Amino acid sequence: MFDIAVPTLGVIDSAERFPVRRIYCVGRNYADHAREMQANPETEPPFFFMKPADAAFTVLEDGSDRAAGTVPFPTETADFQHEVELVVAIGTGGTNIAEAASLDHVWGYAVGIDLTRRDLQAEAKALRRPWDLSKGFDFSAPVSPLVPVAASSHPDRGTIWLKVDGQVRQTGDLASQLWNVPGIIAELSRFVTLFPGDLVMTGTPAGVSALDRGDVVTAGIDGVGELEFVVV
Ligand code: MN
Repeated sequence: MFDIAVPTLGVIDSAERFPVRRIYCVGRNYADHAREMQANPETEPPFFFMKPADAAFTVLEDGSDRAAGTVPFPTETADFQHEVELVVAIGTGGTNIAEAASLDHVWGYAVGIDLTRRDLQAEAKALRRPWDLSKGFDFSAPVSPLVPVAASSHPDRGTIWLKVDGQVRQTGDLASQLWNVPGIIAELSRFVTLFPGDLVMTGTPAGVSALDRGDVVTAGIDGVGELEFVVV
């Protein structure tokens, strides 16, 4: 009846595309960010939420193609914020995946930004409503080209950073994630069966802040890649 396109992501140094099935996100996976959100990481463990698959799109790594390296300022917000995150791309599905085997399910990694309508999220928290429209909207998950595991290995430490107009806003280390990648895959696969094409955005370090039109956002993770876009 309808011709519906499956969202896909670019792969580094390849014409291949990675089809996206679902996007799971980890909330408050770095203690310093949990605290800046007025949460207590000692008593409140991380948790999952989702974005629609078509929120994800590839921003060209070198930023040379401005048409691809732009993110539209979303409607219905006055507080549009960035959260830089390690993205895990699942290549082999499974349920109740053991932590020790979980990395065998990873196809590759990328740098992603969990873009957030912070004002709508604050309202949703206050009214005990779902986060969907504060987290899952068009263009809310720009990512760098995926790097296959063969090229990146499995990053479990290394700097994760984000700059706006060249000024550092966020910096942290993957090693300070409360749930590491094997732990995230094991935990998530107890709740849902993972499938090839699923993405997991693994949470952000402290320093989230608001973006304006015209801001140039650059972000990166050691050993994984970088991305750049302009908010338009
Ligand atoms: Mn996030």
